[in-house]
Amino acid sequence: QVEYPDLVIVGAGLFGLTVAQQAVEHLGVRVQIIDVRDHIGGNAYSYMDEETGAEVHKYGAHLFHTSNKRVWDYVNRFTSFTNYVHRVYATHDGVVYPLPINLGTINQFFGAHYTPAEAKALIAEQAGELAGTDPANLNDKGISLIGRPLYEAFIKNYTGKQWQTDPSELPAGIINRLPVRFNYDNRYFRDTWEGLPTDGYTKWMERMIDDSRISVSLSTDFFDASQPYNKEALKAAGVPVVYTGPIDRYFDYRLGDLKWRTVDFKEVRYDEGDHFGCPVMNYSDADVPYTRAIEFKNFNPERADSQNPNKTVVWEEYSRFAERGDEPYYPVNTAADKELYAQYEQLAASEANTVFGGRLGTYKYYDMHNVIDTALTAYENQVAPLLRK
Ligand code: FAD
Ligand code: UDP
Repeated sequence: QVEYPDLVIVGAGLFGLTVAQQAVEHLGVRVQIIDVRDHIGGNAYSYMDEETGAEVHKYGAHLFHTSNKRVWDYVNRFTSFTNYVHRVYATHDGVVYPLPINLGTINQFFGAHYTPAEAKALIAEQAGELAGTDPANLNDKGISLIGRPLYEAFIKNYTGKQWQTDPSELPAGIINRLPVRFNYDNRYFRDTWEGLPTDGYTKWMERMIDDSRISVSLSTDFFDASQPYNKEALKAAGVPVVYTGPIDRYFDYRLGDLKWRTVDFKEVRYDEGDHFGCPVMNYSDADVPYTRAIEFKNFNPERADSQNPNKTVVWEEYSRFAERGDEPYYPVNTAADKELYAQYEQLAASEANTVFGGRLGTYKYYDMHNVIDTALTAYENQVAPLLRK
């Protein structure tokens, strides 16, 4: 017979860790975290690559950025941040351009020296075919933002590779994240704060749960009835649960599968200190099968002394639809998916002792700062009331 803790958290990602930390800090309860993986941190987990000294982000490059003061103050309790500013370059037709599309990209692309006003006028003219419309899909949104030539060079094929869906069937919102600038500002994010955790992502997250009242069981699946913290046993014992796994899996996919995209990473090692001269190189054209390549060393130039000057490691990203059993990374979010999620959400609302959260638990395209913010709110509004009962 196990002695159950006050709260069980399924998933040691940023959502679960934030709720655990809050529950212990505010109510002094005992928390058990379980994760099916063999490490904490969820998709934000990283490890040091011995050969190169690079911090490899195991589930894809993670850049922290936020304009939310509550989140920024919260994360700074557990880590400081480097002064890294995210910048991305793209290779199109054998030439490297700066992203997001800015005056530098435009002038390089047209071989011109437009002023901001001239570039704006040119793009307005090129976007004119869709002027005054409210574009509903990504294709029309792209053309209306930057005109057809730039759209076809930098967006169309990249998006096609990333989503394996015709851009005219994708929601316009996907490229809200990708602005156009009529100056030479090529900061990728516009947030008030950005940076990378000084001692790495995993150290940051370990500090969040460094408390004797928090226990972690790794390689432990919530749906495995042979381990004590499984769904049915916890339900029978009336233990409050925070669930951050896929919501459709929780209900045995009984209404159908929510669609996700996953990414396969191909590791390439080079016998040189620096392969790209930047951390992220996007490939805009269809003839390169991967969307982008990440050179992890270049996220942390401040660690040059502990990095190998003659070796570097690069991960190429290949995007495809996820099957069951693949890592679900990006919600596809078609209208049908949203409708299906709404039905699962209703089922979730009737699970009295269980709070659903995070990217997988709420089927949302959340960044880390969104996940932490929603976790702080979910703790206050849903988890603390359950624990006080
Ligand atoms: P997760 O981190 O996914 O954690 C959920 C955990 O639940 C996982 O560890 C999983 O193993 C566990 N779990 C699931 N099912 C079970 C089960 N049955 N039993 C036990 N455990 C289970 N955000 C940014 O802010 N900046 C970025 O640059 C950025 N880049 C990203 C790039 C990629 C490729 C991806 C996929 C995400 C990126 N994100 C980025 C988003 C970021 O990863 C998420 O917002 C955040 O990590 C999600 O935290 P979470 O706790 O909701 O989920
Ligand atoms: N995108 C693009 N070309 C690029 C980079 C991004 O067309 O070079 C589009 C693409 O549709 C992608 C979206 O912008 O899905 C968001 O890209 P971002 O890199 O911001 O998102 P991430 O994949 O890192 O979450």
